[in-house]
Amino acid sequence: MAPSSEIVTPVVGLEIHVELATATKMFCRCRNRFGDPPNTNVCPVCLGLPGALPVMNARAVEFSMKVGLALNCRVASYTKWDRKGYYYPDLPKNYQISQYDLPLSANGHLDVPLPDGGASRIRVLRAHLEEDAGKNVHDNPAHTGVDLNRAGVPLLEIVSEPDMHSVEEVMGYARSMHRLVRWLGVSEANMQMGHMRFEPNINLHITRDGRTYKTPICEVKNLNSFRALERTVQFEISRQYAEWRADPEGYSIEKREKENRGYDDALGQTVFQREKEEAHDYRYFPDPDLVPVTVSDEWRGRVEGEIGELPLARRQRYMDAGLGFKEADALTQDAPTGDLLDAAVAAGASIQRCCNLLLGRGSAFANERGCTIAEVGVTAGQLAELAKMMDAGDVNATAGARVFDKLAEVGGTPREIAEAEGLLAVKDAGQIEAWVREAIDGNPQAVEQVTSGGKKRSKAMGFLMGQVMQKSRGAAPPAEVQRLLNEKLGL
Ligand code: ZN
Ligand code: MN
Repeated sequence: MAPSSEIVTPVVGLEIHVELATATKMFCRCRNRFGDPPNTNVCPVCLGLPGALPVMNARAVEFSMKVGLALNCRVASYTKWDRKGYYYPDLPKNYQISQYDLPLSANGHLDVPLPDGGASRIRVLRAHLEEDAGKNVHDNPAHTGVDLNRAGVPLLEIVSEPDMHSVEEVMGYARSMHRLVRWLGVSEANMQMGHMRFEPNINLHITRDGRTYKTPICEVKNLNSFRALERTVQFEISRQYAEWRADPEGYSIEKREKENRGYDDALGQTVFQREKEEAHDYRYFPDPDLVPVTVSDEWRGRVEGEIGELPLARRQRYMDAGLGFKEADALTQDAPTGDLLDAAVAAGASIQRCCNLLLGRGSAFANERGCTIAEVGVTAGQLAELAKMMDAGDVNATAGARVFDKLAEVGGTPREIAEAEGLLAVKDAGQIEAWVREAIDGNPQAVEQVTSGGKKRSKAMGFLMGQVMQKSRGAAPPAEVQRLLNEKLGL
């Protein structure tokens, strides 16, 4: 590793491509849907046939504005479409419609939560709208196929400033962006379906003996999982450091400005692809087939009004209401789960009690079913009623968990379930006392072990306790049982 006089600072910027969840494609009426048979969602426009004319999808612009505004960007009142020319088999037009010098959104930031409850601010340079390319299909060894269902799907490209300086910061930013686009409802952001792809730009700034060295910037293309992103950044940091150690003067940004690399998942390594092309290689020019987009103050204002509370603000609100960082963070992974909590609290339940139920049994069901906590299906009304019953001592914690399970499995009202299952706490003092008496009379050996105060005392007390709980089928309040046992045994 580095000698103590050396300071190595990773410098990372991230481009994120997000497929927008519109019903139709960016410039035609074809369906925007993953998984359909190849080349079934295509038309002359997205096939790039001569004479076909594109028409802009306003919903995609609106979705992009929403992201831009949530990222505190300046959303342009005037923007246009440009052709970015390059040849690739999955791009039949030989150009991609994108936004070059006038992106829809620019100069924003995203606050990335830190474990200590604070946040680190990553600047967003721009977020522009473009169309996705098709997909080359390599499932036949004899030839490569092309599926153009994806060609023309709206794609939002979000470009950060190189503000990240560790693997943790990169991952925090990527995950926050993932949560944000889902939160806003503009993308499913399903990684397996390629809805979100990462392209990190990575280099190192190394200070040694008062001099700063910068390694060439490497852009790693098309990463489609968090794991690939994490391994890529880790790998590049050590690879670049090793290359620089071997040749501090030669391996520098002055000599080799930029290169493109690909990620090989089997090797867990990045591999050289080519020297980076420059913007002028793409021969950008305004698309003559599309009119420029004007965004009125009224339109921008309406979209802004739809955004609502964002994850970090909501997390802070939960912490202010007394929840811990981890609890508040877990409840703000998606909007509907927090909405469920808010509605239960609005119905008069305690936030901590609801939180315990949601993150206990709720999250167990969510993991098992591969869904969010809200999608488990327990409603705010059910959650509030159960929480209130627990606070009133009508059901104890164990019984409450069982009621929650029934709600998730078959539904119903908490009180009816508790009654039907015999889970209601017994408040009849005479009945509880009778059970305690029975347990004492029926187990003289355990009583002896408790009263003699020997080594087996606490185990024996637990046994008596268990006997009473069993007789009550879990419905006796444990604290009251303990109190009565102590009293009767003269402790
Ligand atoms: Zn089409
Ligand atoms: Mn792009």
